[in-house]
Amino acid sequence: MTDQTVPVVKDLVLIGGGHSHVEVLKRFGMRPVPGVRLTLITRDAYTPYSGMLPGLVAGHYTFDDVHIDLAPLSRFAGARLFHEPAVGLDLARREVRCQGRPPVPYDLLSINVGSTPSLDAVPGASDLVIPVKPISEFVQRWSEVRARVKAASGPIRLGVVGAGAGGVELALAAQQALTTMLIEQGRDEEAPILHVLGADRSILPTHNRGMRRRLERVIRDRGVHLHLGQAVTAVHPHGVTRADGETVVLDEILWVTQAGAPRWPGEAGLDVDDAGFIRVDETLRSVSHPDVFAAGDVAAVVQHPREKAGVFAVRQGPPLAANLRRALLGRSPLPFRPQRRFLTLVSTGDRYAVGARGRWSVEGGLVWRWKDWIDRRFMAKYADLPAMSQPGGPSVAAGLATPEELKTISTAAMRCGGCGSKVGATPLDRVLSQLSPIRRDDVLVGLAAPDDAAVVRVPPGKVLVRTVDAFRAIVDDPFVFGQITANHCLGDIFAMGAEAQTALAIATVPFGLDRKIEDTLTQLLAGAIDGLNTAGAALVGGHTAEGAELSLGLSLTGLADPDALLRKSGLQAGDRLVLTKGLGTGTLFAAAMQMRAKGRWIDAAIQAMRQSSLDAARALRRHQATACTDVTGFGLLGHLVEMTRASGVDVELDLPAVPVLAGALDTSGAGFLSSLHPHNVRLRRAVSDVERVAADPRYPLLYDPQTAGGLLAGVPAERANVCLDDLRALGYHDASIIGTVVGRDDRDAQIRITA
Ligand SMILES: Cc1cc2nc3c(=O)[nH]c(=O)nc-3n(C[C@H](O)[C@H](O)[C@H](O)COP(=O)(O)OP(=O)(O)OC[C@H]3O[C@@H](n4cnc5c(N)ncnc54)[C@H](O)[C@@H]3O)c2cc1C
Repeated sequence: MTDQTVPVVKDLVLIGGGHSHVEVLKRFGMRPVPGVRLTLITRDAYTPYSGMLPGLVAGHYTFDDVHIDLAPLSRFAGARLFHEPAVGLDLARREVRCQGRPPVPYDLLSINVGSTPSLDAVPGASDLVIPVKPISEFVQRWSEVRARVKAASGPIRLGVVGAGAGGVELALAAQQALTTMLIEQGRDEEAPILHVLGADRSILPTHNRGMRRRLERVIRDRGVHLHLGQAVTAVHPHGVTRADGETVVLDEILWVTQAGAPRWPGEAGLDVDDAGFIRVDETLRSVSHPDVFAAGDVAAVVQHPREKAGVFAVRQGPPLAANLRRALLGRSPLPFRPQRRFLTLVSTGDRYAVGARGRWSVEGGLVWRWKDWIDRRFMAKYADLPAMSQPGGPSVAAGLATPEELKTISTAAMRCGGCGSKVGATPLDRVLSQLSPIRRDDVLVGLAAPDDAAVVRVPPGKVLVRTVDAFRAIVDDPFVFGQITANHCLGDIFAMGAEAQTALAIATVPFGLDRKIEDTLTQLLAGAIDGLNTAGAALVGGHTAEGAELSLGLSLTGLADPDALLRKSGLQAGDRLVLTKGLGTGTLFAAAMQMRAKGRWIDAAIQAMRQSSLDAARALRRHQATACTDVTGFGLLGHLVEMTRASGVDVELDLPAVPVLAGALDTSGAGFLSSLHPHNVRLRRAVSDVERVAADPRYPLLYDPQTAGGLLAGVPAERANVCLDDLRALGYHDASIIGTVVGRDDRDAQIRITA
């Protein structure tokens, strides 16, 4: 979690984890500005390093070799990671708009979102080609191309539209990769037929003659069909039409033309150039909005126009970081002059490369090794992170806050608590006015007309099911934390066989300026309401206070038919045990705290925690579940023991069938365990023959405490498989039958594990 000891005075929001922002994150992590809250809003959790993309296509690198994992880097930087694309800006209100959540306010904004493919100008292109940007999607679509080539009979015709450095490099890498794959399949005769099409009269028109000549020779030697001086004017299902009207028949088309600009910065009112790129001055500050900076492909430096290339985005990282810091502290940003000449290294797919700088050029296997060394060294900067810097103390950086703000902060820190550290009525009203909890007819007094307490009707014949739970923020994004908390707390209601009715929230937000508290609370409660609304529960009231750290609790009511309640005590011998979600949130987040969990593991765990158990609960009831509980803090084994004891039965647990979240075996195997884990392990006495299974890598996960974990239920044997099919069709892809209930024998141990 980000350091919350210093009150937040200013929000620095970074949109896009591009090549400049990764350096900003690193530098702010090395030297934080106390009082600045850093937030990264990113469409992708991994930043592809474009210089190594052709090497990935050629098969020289793995996914992890060529991607910067933004999750550990953000943690290192003390930044909140909001994994969402920005879709717009409100420059007057200083807010970033994202879909399906409240806007994110900023005091200072920096944009590094790269470029987008320009497909609109060519009829058919949007539907029929594979654009190289966004690279995250290209990586997936390239593996689909490989699969199609593998399945095809006869040589395929591959077209690459764009004959700049990116297009030529990608074309040669693709040719190499497909040829190697076909040779491995024994299909040497079926090498792909490669066409490269460019609008200019030469390849790499912005590079020197030597480099062009060398690459033209490689292209000739490799039998590539070059179509130069021929813009593609149309794309159709079986190929493309050139400017001269000729048709080139193609099976697959990769699109690597000049980059276009995203529309939303210009639509928001930022000054943009004719192509839509954000116009910035030589300090990288927007020429129209001094509280906005931009770098990389999306920016056009008015004084120093340059082509769109990652090398400039990389070089802009350090001055951008310095100027953001200066702007936050009320100092003028300094100008930065990008170099004119830079080294270009273009690989040819076969561990060979051509290099150029100024008028000089070179080629060879050694040049490829040189490129490989440079690229790997660059990537290591963002993977091998130094130990995290310690927060400097409770004071805000000099120059960050106005005297007025400093006074407010010191008053906030000294609040006596006699008022319950309550958040003031006005900010709370403003927050509540932005939220949309569902309305229910059985809520007589709720948030629509607030009073001292909520009043709720219990329909005749129903019983009220009540529960409460609360915990500290497990993720940095308050909206996502709100969703997870709602799902976690609702688990109790669903496990009882009830439908959710109402909720009261108890939220604690870190001390700070009113507008910062308001923002955090809005995000937090909007997330919680999103989860509650999905489940049909109305938020009817609550209490909010300031405190040391962000936390949220929900007290919930549900309604059930008294004779349809599901209890832990209902397991019957012969029942199958069904678990609806994978295990591992405890170990994964313990590793994430140490920056040792991969972003995609954490992402997948967050998706699992955000998944409501509403549909799972209904499916279990439809299939006549006999008993149910939700798997949370005591881990699977703890909750299972509660069930067996209450039901007077034993269980045979099928360890290999226990579903596990991606990465959880790696992190628990590496020794990252939740602080609750040792408490849970005490229950191992309930397991017979522990020594036999203790070495199994899945075994420790039986004790792993879960947040918003799955439902664990007993289902009659004859319904279990259909129930499982239903659960999977409903999106619970990890749902599994993990064991069988058997009659109690007279030994102490109630759980027998088969491994
Ligand atoms: C095949 C190929 C090879 C190349 N090789 C080289 C090379 O060797 N050297 C070189 O200098 N250049 C190279 N380039 C050019 C290079 O890719 C770009 O110039 C470079 O990636 C631009 O970097 P950036 O930081 O501006 O943006 P990007 O690297 O594109 O990063 C932008 C990030 O912003 C995020 N994002 C996008 N939209 C949003 C949104 N709405 N909200 C939130 N986040 C968003 C994305 O997730 C992305 O990770 C190559 C290009 C291609 C196609």
